[in-house]
Amino acid sequence: KLFNEVQELKGNIRVYCRIRPFLPGENLKATIVDYIGDNGELLVANPSKQVKDKPRSFKFNKIFGPAASQAQVYLDIQPFIRSVLDGFNVCIFAYGQTGSGKTYTMSGPNPPSEEEWGVNYRALNDLFNISQSRKGVNLYEVGVQMVEIYNEQVRDLLSNEASQKRYPFMHFFLFASLSNGLAVPDANMLPVKSTSDVLELMQIGFANRAVGATALNSRSSRSHSVVTVHVRNEDLKTGSASQGSLHLIDLAGSERADRSEATGDRLKEAQHINKSLSALGDVIFALSQKSAHVPYRNSKLTQLLQRSLGGQAKTLMFVQVNPDVLSFSESLSTLKFAERVS
Ligand code: ADP
Ligand code: MG
Repeated sequence: KLFNEVQELKGNIRVYCRIRPFLPGENLKATIVDYIGDNGELLVANPSKQVKDKPRSFKFNKIFGPAASQAQVYLDIQPFIRSVLDGFNVCIFAYGQTGSGKTYTMSGPNPPSEEEWGVNYRALNDLFNISQSRKGVNLYEVGVQMVEIYNEQVRDLLSNEASQKRYPFMHFFLFASLSNGLAVPDANMLPVKSTSDVLELMQIGFANRAVGATALNSRSSRSHSVVTVHVRNEDLKTGSASQGSLHLIDLAGSERADRSEATGDRLKEAQHINKSLSALGDVIFALSQKSAHVPYRNSKLTQLLQRSLGGQAKTLMFVQVNPDVLSFSESLSTLKFAERVS
């Protein structure tokens, strides 16, 4: 295998913590982060003077502090991405409360700038570069799907005219044999040949995500977005082929609904999010325990990803933390979620 550098580790599950920097206007002094160790240890404490609790300790496979760049973060996930070329299924999640940097990690700012590209653009770019460098030896075919899960319903983000117009020649013959293996068989899969194809497609997908939302931000923080990259790798000499997939998941915000505010639609949304995030936690926990029963059926998200979670598949969870003292209790519950699955 060319790219399978990722060591087997606890059922192929890794948990990385990323702490975002303070943004302009936020109070620079009130950070909850006490210590970040090279060994993956994180100490957090409430810095407010009235509270005198001792720091709490959490352990991760890796921690990225506020100064970590997108490029540095990518270096530590590159082996996962490249193993897709060897036919592995890989899931990368971003978990955390709204505003903790999930979208920044997965996509980067919008509109995208190359220096701040998130995981999704870097991953595709990397795959295309490798495919270029192996021209004549291997043939790589890449297809992309984008869906969102909102209130336990799956919506295709690449089904509208804009994406059809961009790819009028779309025939899925290359992936025809794959159709049973698709996470979402009904969602359009579009062939991509270059990073600029991907940039364009993701813009269309993310624009579709906002449709029907009262406020763009609110909708995107209450739904999960799943970008799936399918790669078919053919060895031109022997004719043998393998197929791998990469799921990039920007999860709905993990914050608990404000009890006083949550009524009607809001309450329903919050319940769906709670249910699916805890179902995800249960699945990853079961996998990390190598438990005989893995409860995939409890949410749309885990059903969708069933074939890509467990077995030979590799899972990477980014636990996103907002360092501000005002988010202390939410950050603590984020870290406790992570503690359970790592
Ligand atoms: P979420 O998707 O979890 O709601 P965002 O990714 O939208 O959070 O991040 C909230 C804000 O913080 C955005 O303005 C984003 O650009 C900024 N941000 C997040 N992480 C970083 C980072 N590592 N470096 C610089 N800015 C960041
Ligand atoms: Mg977001």
